[in-house]
Amino acid sequence: MNRPYMVPGTCREGFQTVPGIRSSVPKIYTRGTTMKNRLKPDLFLNTVYELDTGVLKREGIEAIIVDIDNTLVSWDTKLPDEKVTGLVCRLASEDFKICILSNNTKKRVEEFNKDLKLPAIHKAVKPSKMAFKRAMKLMDSKVKNTAVIGDQLFTDVLGGNRLGLFTILVSPISSKEFIWTRLVRLLERLILKKIK
Ligand SMILES: [Mg+2]
Repeated sequence: MNRPYMVPGTCREGFQTVPGIRSSVPKIYTRGTTMKNRLKPDLFLNTVYELDTGVLKREGIEAIIVDIDNTLVSWDTKLPDEKVTGLVCRLASEDFKICILSNNTKKRVEEFNKDLKLPAIHKAVKPSKMAFKRAMKLMDSKVKNTAVIGDQLFTDVLGGNRLGLFTILVSPISSKEFIWTRLVRLLERLILKKIK
């Protein structure tokens, strides 16, 4: 039997009811179901450049969503260096699809991606699910065969885990960051101590 749940709405009482889920429906446990798991990456790497594609293949991964700032390059590096182009070529030669997903501006992402010419999304508002879904659409990939690589727990990992993607956390390339990010890093370190 459907149970009504109260949600904000426009009816007289200020609420409307919508059908809820049946309590008898079994919970399906996937990657990152609990809050703790949602902040736990499937894989930790010191740098994206030590990525072992064998691990990805064993996980059935065919498509990779990748962050730019402090994942591929430091946030003040405007263009991809040889390491970035080398990685992109290596992944492409092994038939991985790649999509850039960044919370940074259109200008930053377009300039960085000018020669790489990868599918790219700027102002992604990670950890919002929407941009991750868009990235998967651009690569024609599914949850089960898509990985996310990024340097931040609360954007890259949380966003990926919310959808059940395979999440990879890398150590930030540079410690030179904005004040807000530096504060977030303190919280990240506390959480990582508990989940690592
Ligand atoms: Mg980043």
